[in-house]
Formats: sequence, C-alpha cells, structure tokens
Amino acid sequence: MPKQANKTIKKIGVLTSGGDSPGMNAAIRAVTRKAIFRGLKIIGIQRGYQGLLEEDFVEFGPRSVSDTIQRGGTILRTARSEEFKTEEGKKKGAEICRKHGIDAVVVIGGDGSYRGALALSHEGIAVMGIPGTIDLDIACTDYTIGFDTAVNTALEAIDKIRDTSSSHERCSIVEVMGRNAGYIALWCGVASGAEDILLPEKYDYDEQEIINHIIESRKIGKTHHLIINAEGIGHSTSMARRIEAATGMETRATILGYMQRGGSPTCKDRYYASIMGAMAVDLLADGKGNRVIGYHNGEFMDFDVDEALAMEKQIPEYQYEVAKALSI
Ligand code: ADP
Repeated sequence: MPKQANKTIKKIGVLTSGGDSPGMNAAIRAVTRKAIFRGLKIIGIQRGYQGLLEEDFVEFGPRSVSDTIQRGGTILRTARSEEFKTEEGKKKGAEICRKHGIDAVVVIGGDGSYRGALALSHEGIAVMGIPGTIDLDIACTDYTIGFDTAVNTALEAIDKIRDTSSSHERCSIVEVMGRNAGYIALWCGVASGAEDILLPEKYDYDEQEIINHIIESRKIGKTHHLIINAEGIGHSTSMARRIEAATGMETRATILGYMQRGGSPTCKDRYYASIMGAMAVDLLADGKGNRVIGYHNGEFMDFDVDEALAMEKQIPEYQYEVAKALSI
C-alpha cells in the first residue's frame, strides 16, 4: 500500500509527462496560482520524470505562469524516462524530492505518467494526477485535457479535405491520432460525416467490406467517400492504393500527424485544466495523496491512483452504431 501523505504539505512540485496536450499550460498555471494562494511553495519540474532525476527545477512565483493559459504545448516541456521506470530510478526520484523539501508532486499526463506517480507514492511522496492527453483514454474520467482542441484541429483539416474530395469525387482517407484509442477518430468521424470510421478497438481489417461500402455509396449518389482512420491502424497510404485499384475511384490519404497536438487550447480545455489544477492543490493541502482527478457524471472527483489504473474504458457501443447509421 502507498504511504499516505498525512503530514502538512509545504512545497509542491508540478511536472508534465508523456505526450503533450493543449491545455497543459492552463493546468500548470492553475496548480501554481492555487498553491501560492494557499501559502504553499511551488517548484516547476522540467522535462517530466527525467527532469526530476536530473534536478531540473525552477522555483515558480505567480508571474512565472503569466501569459501561458492560451498557449499550446507545455512550458515545463515533457519527456519519457526509461531510467525512472527502474527500481533505482523511482527511489532516486523520491530521494531528490525529499532533498529539495518537495512533499507532493502534481503529475499532468496520461496513464503511463500515472504509473510513475504511483511509484513515487509508494516511496512516500504525496501525488496527485491530472488527466492530460489528447487521446481521451483514461478510464476514470469522462474528459482529458487536450481532447477538445485536438478534435477541433483535426476536424478543421478534415472539413477542408472533404470539400475537395466532393469536387473531385474522390475517396479520402484521413489518418488522425490515437495509437491505442479511437476516440479522436470516432468524434471526428461523426462530426465530419465520414462514411467509414476505423477504430483500433473495432476494426477487423476486412478491407473488402470498405470497398463494397464505397461501391454501394456511389450507386446511391454519394460524390465522395470519407474514411477516418486511426493512427493505431495506420497504413493509410497503402490502403488508399488498394482501394483505388479495387474501386477505380481516385483515393488519397492524408496523415494529419502532430498538428493535432499543438495549438491554442479551446475554452473547454482551459476550463477543465483550471478546475482540475486548482483541485489537485486543494486535495493535497487538505492532506490527501495518491489520488488522480477525473470528471465523471458532471462532477469533478478524485480516485485512488491504483483504482484509476485498474479501470477499463471501452468505445461506447451505441455511439459507434450511430456513426454507422448516419453515414448511409
Ligand atoms: P503517457 O503519460 O502519455 O501515457 P507514457 O506512457 O510515455 O506517457 O509515460 C510517460 C512516462 O511515465 C514514462 O516515460 C516514464 O518515465 C513514466 N512511467 C511510465 N510507466 C511507468 C512505470 N511503470 N513506473 C514508473 N514510471 C513510469
């Protein structure tokens, strides 16, 4: 069992880890300002757990986070750290926290980053996780910071591709992010009126079914065929070649890539980040540790890190069925 943080917190560290997402800065800002508001010291830990191991710290004041709420990326930068995954790495991370008087660490990131937080918690450091990922793939929360910006960025690009696809009567495959999770593809697919949506959780690699769908769609008067493909399935370019050969319909693939991770966060991302960031500090200041924050059934709430990591999330079946029904 993690050692619970029942001593009074005086100094909090904040880090961003794993893949970046728009709105992370708004979360860092909220953690920083709320900590200072409550009379606590706040340290920015740069470059995730790797920066922790290298003592890459900056002391934050209220002005350190000025003019950041509207900026994409993360001012603390982010990294993946193999060293921190080792037993020695985890112990060293906790030792460094103790050496600098850091009683608690707020970790903004995805599931992987939560595993790192759990490790720190086992070493006696209070931790609080904030869901920061464009993928929406954290089970304990209905919302993750960055998703709204990412889907809107992708959708803007997809709409443009859709226009030219219709003009040229093309088939277009647009590959969106999501290595293991298809939420970006599902939302963008429904919102762009795509004819096919390929999700890592659902796709059975039956390309003939897509080909038949394209042929049927042409017969009923569709001028284009838009396929949203998730990164986890990939191979959009070779898929386009095969589809063109089989259907005779000109087929183009566009891989949207990293543009989906950047850009100014939407109002929704800034709002969730601000509330979750502030709540993380309040929970720590009130003596809680080993928790992650989520948004569930209309409420902001907190969960045990172990509990959160054990939860599973599935693509909602009904929403996936709706996507199919609306593309007739
Ligand atoms: P995300 O947080 O976006 O899911 P990753 O899965 O890449 O991203 O995890 C980010 C970082 O969290 C890793 O590079 C590593 O430093 C840390 N981490 C992940 N899993 C563990 C683990 N089991 N123990 C300790 N640290 C971990």
